[in-house]
Amino acid sequence: MVNPVLKRALDTWGEEAQMLMVVEEMSELMKEILKNVNRGKDNVDQIVEETADVEIMLEQLKENYHIADRVAVYKAEKIKLIERRLNEWDKIHAA
Ligand SMILES: [Mg+2]
Repeated sequence: MVNPVLKRALDTWGEEAQMLMVVEEMSELMKEILKNVNRGKDNVDQIVEETADVEIMLEQLKENYHIADRVAVYKAEKIKLIERRLNEWDKIHAA
C-alpha cells in the first residue's frame, strides 16, 4: 500500500511531473555514487538523502503504473536467482 502522502503527491502534481522526478532523483543518486566510487568523496550523507529521494519516487512510480504487486513478485524471483548464482560461485571458489 502506497504511503497516502505519496499518493497525494502523485494526484496533485500529476503523472508527467512525478515520472520526470523519478528520473531526476535517480540521476542525483547516480551522481553521488560516482563521486564516492570514482573520486573517493566522503559523501555518505548525500547518498543517504538521494537514496531516500529515489525510494520516495519509486513508490510513486509503482502507484502510477499500478505495478507494486508485480514488482514484489519479480523482486522475490530475482533474489532467488541471485542466491542460486551465489551458491554456484561458492562451489566454484571453494575448490
Ligand atoms: Mg534528490
